[in-house]
Amino acid sequence: MALYVQKFGGTSVGSVERIQAVAAKVKQWREQGHDIVVVVSAMSGETNRLIELAQQISSKPLPREYDVLVSTGEQVTISLLSMALHEIGQPARSYTGAQVAIHTDSAYNKARIEKIDTERMRADLDEGRVVIVAGFQGIDDGGNITTLGRGGSDTTAVALAAALKADECQIYTDVDGVYTTDPRVVSDARRLEKITFEEMLEMASQGSKVLQIRSVEFAGKYNVPLRVLSSFQDGPGTLITMEENAVEEALISGIAFNRDEAQLTVQGVPDRPGIAYSILGPIGDANIEVDMIVQNVGSDDTTDFTFTVHRNDYEKAYELLNAVATGLGARKVEGSTSICKISMVGVGMRSHAGIAAKMFEVLANEGINIRMISTSEIKIAVVVDDKYLELAVRALHQAFDLGNTD
Ligand code: ASP
Ligand code: MG
Repeated sequence: MALYVQKFGGTSVGSVERIQAVAAKVKQWREQGHDIVVVVSAMSGETNRLIELAQQISSKPLPREYDVLVSTGEQVTISLLSMALHEIGQPARSYTGAQVAIHTDSAYNKARIEKIDTERMRADLDEGRVVIVAGFQGIDDGGNITTLGRGGSDTTAVALAAALKADECQIYTDVDGVYTTDPRVVSDARRLEKITFEEMLEMASQGSKVLQIRSVEFAGKYNVPLRVLSSFQDGPGTLITMEENAVEEALISGIAFNRDEAQLTVQGVPDRPGIAYSILGPIGDANIEVDMIVQNVGSDDTTDFTFTVHRNDYEKAYELLNAVATGLGARKVEGSTSICKISMVGVGMRSHAGIAAKMFEVLANEGINIRMISTSEIKIAVVVDDKYLELAVRALHQAFDLGNTD
C-alpha cells in the first residue's frame, strides 16, 4: 500500500475521453489498494486561450486579475475528473488550491508555495476517496488567488507529495520520460532511466520543458522521488533520484536548449565597486529573473556588462537599464532577442576535464560563433544566434555519443 501523488498534464486531460481514461487508470490503482492524490492541469490549450482573452483586453493585464482568470482552467478539469470517477463507482473529491489550502506568497503569476494543509486530504484518503487537486494555483495570506507560473502544476504535485510524505510523485505527460535532448530536434535522442535531481534541475532551468524548474527544486530539497511517465503508453519512464552512483556512467546526461531568452548589454560602464549592484538591483526589484551574467575585465576604467533575461521581460529590462545607464554614465545599452542558449549537463563533468574544450571545438567546426559562456560544476552553457540552434544541438549530441546505440 503506497501513497502516490499523480499529476496529469494538459494533453493527458485534453478531452472528455482522455479524462475518462485517466479516471479508469486512477481507479485501477485504488483497487490495488493505493492511496491516490491526483493533480491536474487545465485541458490542453485552455491556459493559452485564457491568456489570449486577457490580452485582447489589456497588453499588461493586472497580475491579480490574470491569476483569477488563468486559474479557472484547472477548476474545470478537477470537477470533470471527479465526475468521471464517480461515474465508474470510485468516490472522489475535487479541491481548488484555495480549498486545500495551498498557501503561497503574494507574487502573482509566479507565486511560491509556503505551506500546505493536509488534514482535509488525509480525511478523504482515510475515507477511501481519491483526492483531486487543481494544479498551478494557491492562495495568499490576503485570500487572493495566486498562480505558480507556467507549468506550475508540476510544482503543486511535488509540493503535495512532500507535504503528504508520498512514496512517489508521478508526473504523467505526453512524453515517456526525460530524454538526452528534445527528440523533435534530434531523432535518435534517448530516454534516460535515471537522472539526478541536480542534473534535472540544470536541464529544466536550461530549457528542458519536461518539468517545471520549481518542481525539481522542491523534489530535491525534500527528497521526493519523482518519476516522469507517459499517460498513453506503459513503461518505467525516468526516475529522478538522489543517488549519483545509480545513474548511468555518462559524462553528459543531456543537452538542453532555450529560445526564450534575450541578451542585454550595458557598454562602457565605469569599472568601480557597486556597478553590478546598480545595474541588477532595479532588475531584481522589478521581479525580473536574470540568468547568465558576464562582466568583462575592465579596460580604460570601463567595462561591458552583459546578462540574459526571459524574452517576455526584455522590453521592461531594456527600459530600466536605459534609466540606470544614464545615471551611471555608461556608453550605451544594446540587446538582442534573436539568441538561444544551449547547455550540456552531466554530473560526470565533475571528474572529467576537457568537456568545455570539446564543446567549443564542435561549435567551431560548424562555424558557430559563441556570444556568451557560463559554467557550473555540472553544466556548460553557451549563447549563440538562434538560427544555429538545431545545427549546434545535433552536432553536440553526436559528438558526445548521446544517441541510441542501436
Ligand atoms: N495550466 C498551466 C499552464 O498551462 C499549469 C500547468 O499546466 O502546469 O501553464
Ligand atoms: Mg505542463
